[in-house]
Amino acid sequence: MKHVSHWIDGSPAGPGDRTAEIYDPATGAVAGRVALATAEEVDAAVDAAARAFPAWRDASLVKRAQILFKFRELLDAHRDELAALITSEHGKVHADALGEVARGIEVVEFACGIPHLLKGGFSENVSTRVDSYSIRQPLGVVAGITPFNFPAMVPMWMFPVAIACGNTFVLKPSEKDPSASLLIAELWKRAGLPDGVFNVVQGDKVAVDRLLEHPAVRAVSFVGSTPIARYVYETGTAHGKRVQALGGAKNHMLVLPDADLDLVADSAVSAGFGSAGERCMAISVVLAVDPIGDELVGKIVSRVRDLTVGPGGDPASQMGPLVTAAHRDKVASYLDLGVEEGAKLVVDGRETPVLGGRGDGFWLGPTVLDHVPPNSRVHREEIFGPVLSIVRVRSYEEGLDLINTGEYGNGTAVFTNDGGAARRFQNEVEVGMVGINVPIPVPMAFYSFGGWKASLFGDTHVHGTEGVHFYTRGKVVTSRWLDPSHGGVNLGFPTNA
Ligand code: NAD
Repeated sequence: MKHVSHWIDGSPAGPGDRTAEIYDPATGAVAGRVALATAEEVDAAVDAAARAFPAWRDASLVKRAQILFKFRELLDAHRDELAALITSEHGKVHADALGEVARGIEVVEFACGIPHLLKGGFSENVSTRVDSYSIRQPLGVVAGITPFNFPAMVPMWMFPVAIACGNTFVLKPSEKDPSASLLIAELWKRAGLPDGVFNVVQGDKVAVDRLLEHPAVRAVSFVGSTPIARYVYETGTAHGKRVQALGGAKNHMLVLPDADLDLVADSAVSAGFGSAGERCMAISVVLAVDPIGDELVGKIVSRVRDLTVGPGGDPASQMGPLVTAAHRDKVASYLDLGVEEGAKLVVDGRETPVLGGRGDGFWLGPTVLDHVPPNSRVHREEIFGPVLSIVRVRSYEEGLDLINTGEYGNGTAVFTNDGGAARRFQNEVEVGMVGINVPIPVPMAFYSFGGWKASLFGDTHVHGTEGVHFYTRGKVVTSRWLDPSHGGVNLGFPTNA
């Protein structure tokens, strides 16, 4: 039975009295316990980060970059181990876990360029013999609070950039799959990161609330569900912190009649059921513009019936279990609800066979609901599981309107062979990340990731240059070196004479 502790000031710490169970989703068995930090344990982590800040802030850019390069090499060497840890607690298949590690490493690679990213501007002679230049400086201690669905990648959206900028970091991972965070902490230490620069507090609302209130925490990055994102944004900003809080999603794929329907079916099934639909960029709704609905649903259903569901560690599995029994039950409740609301259940995931048998694992197979009414809860609410809804629409305009009137605005995709229609969609759609014949348009590390509307509270997206901006504050220096000809009192407002 494993015990997952905190990581404070370069060493494991705890667990104390408060703990929670960790499950193996493929068997339903309790696999270990995770510490749940008290407010005092959070304070210890923040204190360690605050003590480490002055020296880390002053570490040269080249030194910081060298540690990041080394960390990147260690992550690369431990990809498999990290992915296996993720699979054992999250349930996703190993290849998918490797994919999230790879996308996280890309952010580290981006952050290796920090000497270039932190270059300021310089203007000579803004006034006679007066120069001006801008610099960006780190904030201090910053915190990251992350969801269960990407236990390695989402934290890596945050801390490589924050640490590269000269901040020190406290991570509060999801208590459902906490182990990856500790392996990452060990790799940072082996890469030469000074103790206290990267800390982990395991925990729940108690830890989150303390981070939001702690006066030494200058900024909070959050990724999770919309109600908690809103709470974190409101509470953190009320305590004077800079906050970026990414929330939930309901991502539509608009399929125009001229699209390649085999490509559409492959893409919808991949993006709908990869990671059992537990991705914030999963496609959960296909908007099929008349008259292609019946043909498209036929192609989707035949592919779904061929999917292999089984334990994430079995290379034959394409889709694993859901993360917990409670989450599986919540997702499954939408199947009967959908039928009550008038949808047609064309593939029922409760009947899907599971490699090696169901046992007590948290299983729900891929499910397809057709003719989902636009005003139903199944269409409007985030389900976050392997449930693909098909909504039939008469026109591009009707489909666009359904996307733009939805609560969320994380990701979306249009499938068409008409460049003009695609361009119109990219211009008119009110969503932060748009795919054109690409179903999961997750921006690369050198762009920034973030949604609109209820998918993001705050105004800065994560990683890329917006990440650098979030974790630094600007300063502009105006400088004049003594020149006898400029002496004398002048009460006028400075102008650029
Ligand atoms: P969650 O909101 O339940 O938990 C996220 C974090 O908040 C966890 O660390 C958790 O411990 C903490 N938390 C939970 N309840 C809290 C409370 N009452 N007070 C304070 N903190 C609390 O989310 P989850 O179930 O772990 O993750 C799934 C959600 O995350 C989905 O809604 C998904 O769309 C979203 N998500 C969004 C993105 C994005 O980029 N927008 C990316 C990944 C996941």
